[in-house]
Amino acid sequence: MYIFKNGRTITFDEKNPYLENGAVVVEGDRIIDVGNSLDLEKKYPGAELIDAKGRVIMPGLINSHMHIYSSFARGMKITNPTRNFDEILENLWWKVDKNLTLEGTKYSAYATYMDCIKNGVTTVIDHHASPFHLKGSLRTIAEVAKEIGIRASLSYEVSDRDGEKIAEEGIEENIDFIKWAKEENSDMIGAMFGMHAAFTLSDETLEKCKKAMEPYDNGYHIHVAEGYTDLKNSLEKHGKRVVERLKDFGIFREKTIAVHCIHVNEQELDIIKNSGSSVVHNPESNMGNAVGRSPAVEMINRGMEVGLGSDGYTSDMLESYKVANILHKHHLSDPTVAWGESPRMLFENNRKIVKKQFNCQVGILEKGGKADIIIMDYLPHTEMNGDNFYSHILFGMSGRGTVTTMVNGKLVMKDRVILTVDEEKTLAKAREVSKEMWKSFK
Ligand SMILES: [Zn+2]
Repeated sequence: MYIFKNGRTITFDEKNPYLENGAVVVEGDRIIDVGNSLDLEKKYPGAELIDAKGRVIMPGLINSHMHIYSSFARGMKITNPTRNFDEILENLWWKVDKNLTLEGTKYSAYATYMDCIKNGVTTVIDHHASPFHLKGSLRTIAEVAKEIGIRASLSYEVSDRDGEKIAEEGIEENIDFIKWAKEENSDMIGAMFGMHAAFTLSDETLEKCKKAMEPYDNGYHIHVAEGYTDLKNSLEKHGKRVVERLKDFGIFREKTIAVHCIHVNEQELDIIKNSGSSVVHNPESNMGNAVGRSPAVEMINRGMEVGLGSDGYTSDMLESYKVANILHKHHLSDPTVAWGESPRMLFENNRKIVKKQFNCQVGILEKGGKADIIIMDYLPHTEMNGDNFYSHILFGMSGRGTVTTMVNGKLVMKDRVILTVDEEKTLAKAREVSKEMWKSFK
């Protein structure tokens, strides 16, 4: 049993969202009590104490759209002219994924998951690609997630961009993993059916995906109308907009994640809303790729479930939160927007998305919830209370301020030291493996 004690405790529990001198009691994988620090210490003698020393105790963060495979691109040289989103895909991401071996996938996973833990992220919904070493890639990532002790939902992004055979292998990999995850029956590993995007999927491949998924109720995880090319391709080749076309193949289910949704119209938003699918907004990635602004704020105001992801851009979800807050203000020339929508994406809707994927309660400190808890190195210099803690998170904290991370009742980082793997050795190996990968496409 553990007690996280003596913390300014942000619970995100509506009944009691903030405790000035709070504590959280953990037994097994669950939170069994939340309350005043002195009271709980007396009530549970003998528990192992984790003293926050007045700093912030809060739920672990969630990244609802990530690409661990992208991690070896950090510092990589791009030689071809890369002037738009299509060329970014061609010259960067599709070069990286084509050159990933299973070992590359494995060390990308180590590097990314350690970075997540160090940024207080305890659940990651990933979208993987390694077309020439595809078979078993999801199991490889799952084993790393297990070893590190992070909650992860995995999928393989099916695409026709490397030919029909690889598209079929991608379908098989998703289905194999869905079956495996079902047998594992763990709320630490989830499975979705991944697809790259409509513009790299033929009608024949979409039909095959639909057929393969008939026996399962897992969600799809797909980029939707991210770049203008996706819409243009859909209209020119299929005479339909992206969401209309995907709808015809049954893609929009309750557990589906439609990523981005930038070049969409109101009818398309209604299709997604009525299906109960979630949308995931990735503000930094969209700005970096200059693909346009997602109408995330408008989607939320229509009652849609929009979560927040980083799309591989960063592991720091508080960075994404800050950018979401200013991107919409800037674009709409309206300083009043996104104050409520940004926290709703990160702290409320991401939690709902995870609940659909894993059927467990994370992202909230409440009795019976999963023990995914972090301590942030943050001492406020102005009053912090139940009405203003979002402002303290936004302007005072960053992911790297995470001191201690617990996932599913297990301490995976304490005082910035990762406890489940040797960080320095693993990163040294990742540098070696990535260097080899970089050589292969010079
Ligand atoms: Zn993505």
